[in-house]
Amino acid sequence: MAVERTLSIIKPDGVKKGVIGNILNRFETAGLKLVAMKLVQLSKKEAEGFYAVHSDKGFFDELTTFMSSGPVVISVLEGESAIAKNRELMGATNPKDADPGTIRADYSEYVGENTVHGSDAPDTARTEIAYFFAETELVN
Ligand code: ATP
Ligand code: MG
Repeated sequence: MAVERTLSIIKPDGVKKGVIGNILNRFETAGLKLVAMKLVQLSKKEAEGFYAVHSDKGFFDELTTFMSSGPVVISVLEGESAIAKNRELMGATNPKDADPGTIRADYSEYVGENTVHGSDAPDTARTEIAYFFAETELVN
């Protein structure tokens, strides 16, 4: 067990549905602390850079068009096993496979608009945090 940091994004569908507060409440209730947060609208280019690992996938254009279609809430969460804990709260990538009570089961209908993003490993968490936040923007 170790204290980790992970990047979370409440995607445009989550912001549109008005569930920012509900999702942040789930993080806080699970013991994840906010150490950085902002509300921004990504450009298509910023979304493409963030999801570059998926650039060869058939859904890349759909994904990056969607991610730049409206405001998103980007935050850094910190806590014991924060990466796994956040992904547990999110549920499976495809909401149809997500366990009841997870964010994606409760708020998403379609894999392409699945309400939240969370880093999947310590190295990607570091890269993703640095993609959106300067070191000085992370609260200690
Ligand atoms: P994220 O990286 O957003 O947290 P994830 O790690 O659960 O999600 P990835 O495999 O990294 O899933 O896929 C990135 C995103 O690409 C998914 O969250 C989803 O929005 C989108 N995506 C994945 N598969 C499909 C698909 N078949 N059709 C449309 N969009 C998809
Ligand atoms: Mg992923």
